[in-house]
Amino acid sequence: MTPKQISEAVSAIFDRVHGYRTYLHRYPELSFQEHNTMLFVSETLSKLGIRHDKGVGKTGVVAYIEAPNSTRWIGLRSDLDALPIQEENEVEYKSLVLGVMHACGHDAHTAILLGTAELLQKNRESLPCSVKLIFQPGEEMAPGGANYMIDAGVLEDPKPEYLVALHVYPEMTVGKVGVRSGLYMASSDEIHLQFIGVGGHGALPANCVNPLSMAAEVILNAQKIIDEFHPEGVPTVLSFGRIEGLGSTNVIPSECTLKGTLRTMDEAWRTEFFERFTRFVNEVATRYGGSVEFERAPGYPFLKNDPHVTKGVQQSLKLQLGEAHVEDLPLRMTAEDFAFYSHKVPVCFFRLGVGDPAKTMNYGVHHPKFDIHADALRVGVEAMLSVVFNG
Ligand SMILES: [Zn+2]
Ligand SMILES: [Zn+2]
Repeated sequence: MTPKQISEAVSAIFDRVHGYRTYLHRYPELSFQEHNTMLFVSETLSKLGIRHDKGVGKTGVVAYIEAPNSTRWIGLRSDLDALPIQEENEVEYKSLVLGVMHACGHDAHTAILLGTAELLQKNRESLPCSVKLIFQPGEEMAPGGANYMIDAGVLEDPKPEYLVALHVYPEMTVGKVGVRSGLYMASSDEIHLQFIGVGGHGALPANCVNPLSMAAEVILNAQKIIDEFHPEGVPTVLSFGRIEGLGSTNVIPSECTLKGTLRTMDEAWRTEFFERFTRFVNEVATRYGGSVEFERAPGYPFLKNDPHVTKGVQQSLKLQLGEAHVEDLPLRMTAEDFAFYSHKVPVCFFRLGVGDPAKTMNYGVHHPKFDIHADALRVGVEAMLSVVFNG
């Protein structure tokens, strides 16, 4: 398909894609509970006559669109899950499920991939390669649905040469897309610390071992590990977001918990940081006369966009949307479970602008007022088709 044919074909099915998105937005489901969403995807694919398996990796769907004259396969991926957030938008398609909302745009991702599926199927005679469509569950919840999909064999038989995914990006105006080659998103690890001291009267601190003091020292000084030892050029962020020591103005508690996160982009350094961090928190606790229990809950690895695949994606996006509508992206310290695939096959994860130019304020993802400009659905389907036909 030429860029013009793609644009016309997408315009012709826009209302349907918009309908998919508003339906999914009304009926969001939490991670690994996407049973209705899975059935919706499956039924839509059945109506389009597309071969697929459901219940893959718990509640995922994998569809297959075969090119008549190619043995090559590539993969396109979407995610299905919503978040435990009460929607605050007053829109006609507002979530009908109390306390659950598509606040990360996964409804849009799924609608876009279903629209893409329809047009790939209609134009399969001219497909340059076969396409595996991956609708995965549980992006928002560790250990990540990508893991279950990989374990279920989604990267095998037939093996995709590479995978491409898009993600909504409210920081960017609708009509634009963003791409970054190489390192793009961070690994994530949760840090759970429990300091144990000796509680007592706040007026007699000499008789106590104050666990809050240990926590305070860790908050203020753990950054030194990064300053001193992080490999040059490897972005690293350590932050603490929760401290809990339930004493009072005149009571020193015997325990204090501290929670935070480490984000970085190098696996060897990620391991080394935690070796040093473990020694550091133990040293602090011992020096104060207390002890500490430290638990690291590993999240997703860093995400690296393959330079070769990314170049192809970038060129096809420029061809479809125009040079001025394809921007370079900055590094991002958030994490994304698509990263798991990127450690197995070459990938490109790019961003879809969904910001409304008429609004003075576009809310970020995971915000109760997050929403997308509907035109982004059209751009998303065009982008995915262009990646297949012109990549
Ligand atoms: Zn999210
Ligand atoms: Zn997301």
